[in-house]
Amino acid sequence: MNDIKINMLGTGSPRASLERSGPSQVLLIDETPILIDCGEGTVRQLMKAKIDLKKVEHLYFTHLHADHVYGYGQFLVAGWGSGRKKLTVVGPAGVKRFHNQMLELFKDDIAYRTSLGFPSNGILDVEVIEIEEDGEVPGDIPAKVKAARMVHNVPTFGYRFQVGEKAVVISGDTAPTQSLIELSEGANVLIHDCCLTTTSFYKDTTSPTMKKVWENLQKEHCTPKQAAETAQKAGVKQLVMTHFLPGIDKEEIYHEASQVFDGDIIVPDDLLTVSVSEKTEVLN
Ligand SMILES: [Zn+2]
Ligand SMILES: [Zn+2]
Repeated sequence: MNDIKINMLGTGSPRASLERSGPSQVLLIDETPILIDCGEGTVRQLMKAKIDLKKVEHLYFTHLHADHVYGYGQFLVAGWGSGRKKLTVVGPAGVKRFHNQMLELFKDDIAYRTSLGFPSNGILDVEVIEIEEDGEVPGDIPAKVKAARMVHNVPTFGYRFQVGEKAVVISGDTAPTQSLIELSEGANVLIHDCCLTTTSFYKDTTSPTMKKVWENLQKEHCTPKQAAETAQKAGVKQLVMTHFLPGIDKEEIYHEASQVFDGDIIVPDDLLTVSVSEKTEVLN
């Protein structure tokens, strides 16, 4: 029986926050770490979670919005500097260009470090896989991975990681979509975008610009109720919300979701760990 845990490394959003690191989580399958998104602060959050940087050899990007990739430069270089020997990066169209631009940006730095004696494998030989369509994603991790396109304003994939009977799904950023309900069917845990909280800083703004932004965001993300509706329709056991703007009211989010979803609801802080067993439980 596989031991599966999820650490919610960063539960924040594009808004810089002292309380929440940028979007990122790590799935641990028998201690094999699989990183999903790499927002600001991901390297430090991995270290806080006591996950050995050099052992993180798999990264899945849901999409390439800045908040989900801010931490990639540091992850790429510092992970290699810590002794990582190989890396596979998976993501939507554009991820190859993004990775190559990052290498170009740090070209002189990488040349300097290889001149010091660091071997170049683990950074110059990164395997980058672009997903073009829904379906199985081939790879050498101890899980079957399925991707499904979400509703967001750049190509975005939600992922289902299936390990035997157990499944963990992550939505990435999305408005409500039937694709996510299907992807999540019967999963143990659904990690879901919950950006549109009524207590966010957008709520009380009098600025017409920000009001317009808030209106437009309704087409790109989910409210707690919408996330809970997806969880309910998919029959998942546990809903873990994430992607929070500053100033949220955790109890209110929990309350709103509990009106429509009768499974377990978690409104996490950064670094919360969930253990996916017969009965999914929160470890801290
Ligand atoms: Zn986004
Ligand atoms: Zn985002």
